[in-house]
Amino acid sequence: MNSTAHPPPPPRLEADGLACYATRENTSRGRRLAEPPPDTRSEFQRDRDRIVHSGAFRRLEYKTQVFVNHEGDMFRTRLTHSLEVAQIGRSIARVLGVNEALTETIALAHDLGHTPFGHAGQDVLNHCMRDYGGFEHNLQSLRIVDALEEKYADFNGLNLTFETREGILKHCSQANARELGELGQRFLDKRQPGLEAQITSVADEIAYNNHDVDDGLRAGLISLEQLCEVALFAEQHTAVMSAYPKLAEKRAIHEIIRRMINLQVSDFLTSTAARIHAAQPTSRDDVCQRSDALVGFSEKMQKKNQKLKQFLRDNLYRHYRVHRMSVKAGHIIRSLFDAFFDDPLLLPPEQQHHARELENQQGKPGRARGIADYIAGMTDRYAIREYERIFNATELT
Ligand code: MG
Repeated sequence: MNSTAHPPPPPRLEADGLACYATRENTSRGRRLAEPPPDTRSEFQRDRDRIVHSGAFRRLEYKTQVFVNHEGDMFRTRLTHSLEVAQIGRSIARVLGVNEALTETIALAHDLGHTPFGHAGQDVLNHCMRDYGGFEHNLQSLRIVDALEEKYADFNGLNLTFETREGILKHCSQANARELGELGQRFLDKRQPGLEAQITSVADEIAYNNHDVDDGLRAGLISLEQLCEVALFAEQHTAVMSAYPKLAEKRAIHEIIRRMINLQVSDFLTSTAARIHAAQPTSRDDVCQRSDALVGFSEKMQKKNQKLKQFLRDNLYRHYRVHRMSVKAGHIIRSLFDAFFDDPLLLPPEQQHHARELENQQGKPGRARGIADYIAGMTDRYAIREYERIFNATELT
C-alpha cells in the first residue's frame, strides 16, 4: 500500500460528528452497575475522569518502563507516557472520525496495572504467580478498575463502561478470557475491539518507541552515531542537519523525534483510512466482527518500525546498565513476594486483610493474588523502601 500517492477521502461524519463505524454512547453496552447518565459530561468522559481521580493513576508518576524513577527527573514515567499516548491517540481519533473521548480514556488507563520497574517487574511477578494463575498487566489494569479501587460508596472499582474496559484489556490468554464472560468473549472468538482501542494500541507503540530513543540518548546509553544505523532516525537526522547545520544537539534530537512521530502518525492515518475505505464498515459491529485489525501502518513504515524496535531491544533494553537494574528489580520483587507469601503477617494491615479475604475464598492462589495486588500497586521507590524495611537489619520501622 502506497502511503503517499492517493490519500483516501476523509470520513463522512454523521450529525453527532462521528463516522458510522465509531463507538457511540447511545449504543454502549453500559456499566456493570447501571447509573443515572452524567449531567454535564458524556459517559466516556465520566470514565476518563474516574481514571484520573484514581489512586492507581497517581501512582503512575513514580513507575517506570525502562529507566528507574530515581535516575533523573527528565525521563518519562508511566504517567507522562500515558499522557503522550492520549495525545497521539486523540489526534488520530479526530482525523478518523472515531470517539476521541473514549480513545483518551483508554490511553490514560492502559498502563494502570503495571508493576514497579517496568517489564522486568511484570516478568518476575508473573513467574512468582506461575502456580496461582500468573500475572498479566492488562488483566491487572482491568482488576484495578473493576475491583481494587475502593473509592465509591455504591461499588468497588470504578464501574466503567464496557467499551473502556474492552479497550483496557488489550491482550488476554484463552484461559483468562473464559473467566471474563462478555468481556473475554472476543479473545475466544478471535474478534477485534472497537477502533478507539485499536488506535490506542498503536499510539502506545508510537509513543514508547520514540520516547525510548529520546530517553536513551539523554541517559547516554545509545548514541546518535548508533541511531544513524536506523533508517527512520537517519532519514530525519539528515533532513534536519542539512536544513539546520548549526543546530545544537539537544534541539536537533527533539526536532528529529518530533518529525519521526509526525511521519509515523501520518503514515498510520493514511494507511488506516485506506483500509477503512476498502473494508467499508458501516457500524462499530462491522469493525468488531473482523478477525484482523482495521488499523495499521503501510508495509514500508511497518518494516522501518521493526528495525527501530530491534535496535532498541539490542542496544537499550539489553544495555548492561538497564539489565543490572532489571536484575535488581527482579530480586526486590521476588524477595517481597516470597516474604509476604511465607509470612502474611509482614503485610500492612489493609493488605493483610485483603490477602486473607482472598485466601478464605480461594485458598493459596487467593493469598498469592492478594500479595500480587499489593506488589503490582507499588511505585518503584515504594518497592525499594518496602524491601529495605523488611530485609535491612538497620531499618527498624
Ligand atoms: Mg504503554
